[in-house]
Amino acid sequence: MFVLCLDESGTQGEATYFVLGGLAVFEREIHLLSQDFDALQTEYFPRETGRVFFHAARLRVREGQTVEQPWDEHSNQQRIELKDRVYEITRNRQGVLFGCAIEKRFAEIRDEGPYDMAFEDLISRFDLFLSRANRNALRQGGEEQRGLVVLAESNYQKAIGALGQRLRTSGTRWRSLHNVADVPLFAPARETRLLQDADFYANAICGRYHGKHTGDFDRIALKFDREESVVHGLAHLTADSQCPCIACFSRLGR
Ligand SMILES: [Zn+2]
Repeated sequence: MFVLCLDESGTQGEATYFVLGGLAVFEREIHLLSQDFDALQTEYFPRETGRVFFHAARLRVREGQTVEQPWDEHSNQQRIELKDRVYEITRNRQGVLFGCAIEKRFAEIRDEGPYDMAFEDLISRFDLFLSRANRNALRQGGEEQRGLVVLAESNYQKAIGALGQRLRTSGTRWRSLHNVADVPLFAPARETRLLQDADFYANAICGRYHGKHTGDFDRIALKFDREESVVHGLAHLTADSQCPCIACFSRLGR
């Protein structure tokens, strides 16, 4: 079973982009990733007995802004270092990244909700990834795998749950789904390390498209699902037909 954990970024009013993104991992990797986060917590918060909720926005607080506990134990520089360590963890673990960045203006022109658009896009990409992985596995004598999507609990839960049910039954606007095992599951991000990891991915993608900050995005860019030089795992939905980002550039070559 592959598990794709997704989180959103750009929900605040001033953001010009909405992003849904996260990592698909084979089930045994979940435990390893969780252990990495726990080890990082022990290193930075040795006195904390409960689980610290890793959240990208809390590590990006600028000098002079209020810092929540327990992050206020560290300097701004240490928080940046900790953020970089989180991206190092995910870079070094196996997993395939998926992300959809939607210019809100583009969704308005299409008269669609950005969350619905992004979710449908990523479900389709994840299903295609599973089809490809299964073809390769069968060729090598392995077993077929199914996929499960997990989302953070949020205000969108009811609407996305219903959309997930409809997509599973009737397919996406592009094709039927063959490999997604169930409707999306919702879990509290506070308790789920893979969802906390997804938050860092969504944040890096949003930083790239909304904020034009490429540092964190460049760290993870090679994790997007791809076949040789074709990037399947990242979608950039924009009104700008001249965009040279890796998603748009890759689509031009197909
Ligand atoms: Zn683009």
